[in-house]
Amino acid sequence: MTSFADWVSTADAVRGTPKKLEKHAALARYLGGLSDPELIAAARLFAGAPFPRRDERVLALGWAALSDVLLERSRKGGNDMAASYQRHADLGDVAAELIDASAPSGPPLQLEDVAKAFDAIAAARGVAPKREVLRDLLARATADEARYLVKIVSGETRIGLREGLLEDAIARAFGRDREAVGRAHMLTGDIGETALRARHDTLAEPTLAHFLPIGMMLATPVLDLAEIGERFPPPYVVEDKYDGVRAQVHKAGDRVELYSRTFDRVTDRFPELLEPLRAIEGSFVLDAEVLAIKDDRAIPFTRFQRRLGRKNVSEELRSALPATLIVFDVLERDGRALLELPLDERQTILRALPLTGPLVFARQLRLAESGEELVARLDREFEAARARGNEGLMVKDPRSRYRPGRRGMEWLKVKRALRSLDVVVTAVEWGHGKRREVLSDYTFAVRDGERLLNVGKAYSGLTDKEIAEMTRHFLATTVRDYGRVRLVVPETVIEVAFDQIQRSDRHESGYALRFPRIVRLRPDKPVAEIDTLDTVRGIAADLDPTAPERES
Ligand code: AMP
Repeated sequence: MTSFADWVSTADAVRGTPKKLEKHAALARYLGGLSDPELIAAARLFAGAPFPRRDERVLALGWAALSDVLLERSRKGGNDMAASYQRHADLGDVAAELIDASAPSGPPLQLEDVAKAFDAIAAARGVAPKREVLRDLLARATADEARYLVKIVSGETRIGLREGLLEDAIARAFGRDREAVGRAHMLTGDIGETALRARHDTLAEPTLAHFLPIGMMLATPVLDLAEIGERFPPPYVVEDKYDGVRAQVHKAGDRVELYSRTFDRVTDRFPELLEPLRAIEGSFVLDAEVLAIKDDRAIPFTRFQRRLGRKNVSEELRSALPATLIVFDVLERDGRALLELPLDERQTILRALPLTGPLVFARQLRLAESGEELVARLDREFEAARARGNEGLMVKDPRSRYRPGRRGMEWLKVKRALRSLDVVVTAVEWGHGKRREVLSDYTFAVRDGERLLNVGKAYSGLTDKEIAEMTRHFLATTVRDYGRVRLVVPETVIEVAFDQIQRSDRHESGYALRFPRIVRLRPDKPVAEIDTLDTVRGIAADLDPTAPERES
């Protein structure tokens, strides 16, 4: 049996050194000495989440319950907690500080106790029994142990060791090929299973499985059409960029499921798509976007969003905002995984599917032009896509394979007309005048490695109903109340549009957006996928040639 304290000291050692090789060595040494069940649990915890991503279970323990239990364990008050949060902006570090020297009770925690407690929290129905399990767990935890437990329970996105680092260490611990580890992880969606497979040399076994969603391939933004020619040579596969929600569709036998980019099952939200999907013979996995289209034009996402939050979609909403599935890629067909095939070949297989009714292929062109001709052509296509109500263009490399969860240069997105960033809300403020009663002004941040850095503040451009809902949400997730301003748990992703980015001392990022407007909420986007400081720098450099160069 291995103590949880050993896991904690390994995690500390890894975080304590900036040197990759030392990190690998510490992890490899530790992982190599564990039993099989411990290896699974330890690897999952290093990834920073209670369950593997393909697992549909959630802890469902809110911040309020977590802070109650923490206050009880540490015997501290709400003010101590708020002050500590102010210093650390991280609940795990708050837990460690509050508990500090207050000794744990009961037998020391074993690694497997932690995994079992998470299973029990997820299985418990209702807040009270969940809280009970957490209370027992934290009672036995030292301050250092509580730091990691609380980070994991609060869903802190900044705790996990980078996936790449963990994969490297697993490859090293068991003497396996790095690529093979990465591939098995991508296909199983479980770093614990991957570690076990590495140990037993069965990394090659997993294939793309139905009803286990895998990461979706992501696109890199381009700010200028001329940049596209520098990324890869012709030909270019050019598609409309549809403004809806991403969906991965799995079908096998009679079963059809749709998954969101956060791997949630969202099948019930789009009942009208299921019959037509079921009617297509054989099995498949598709990559697609769901939106509402009427009279050949996309209905703006802000309107379509009205039906997204509902579990049961009324007839009325369905006819006002009918869902269309725009299919743009295929990852599996009749038992054959297609990820390694070039886009061109995947498209041949995709476009042989008999799609009907609300299922349609993405509008697609193949451009052979280069240089100025390419820019002029893309410019016309961009305007045409906008005229169809779409967001812009996606430009893809026909030679590229499908890379799950990766943002590379093989898929480029052009949203030129509207400069916008996906950011996370870090603080909110009461409004003025008519908006006195609601939290309508949001301060927001981009990501820089593990840190969040503010880049601006915007008055809400959301509807009154959305603002009222967000007010309730922010009241429930307030971390520190300063009267006018409240710091909130950084988990709400929004899209902001702006005119300019300026150098500014007001924020630690060194930048401020000029005239930011909140375009919409992005509940579908995890904080890990918001825009980065690097992108901000890139845009700033683009707008102002005297600004410093982009780092990568
Ligand atoms: P963004 O959400 O701005 O990062 O842009 C990437 C998103 O565009 C993807 O996650 C998809 O949801 C969406 N998208 C719309 N049309 C396409 C398309 N033709 N190909 C790939 N992704 C698309």
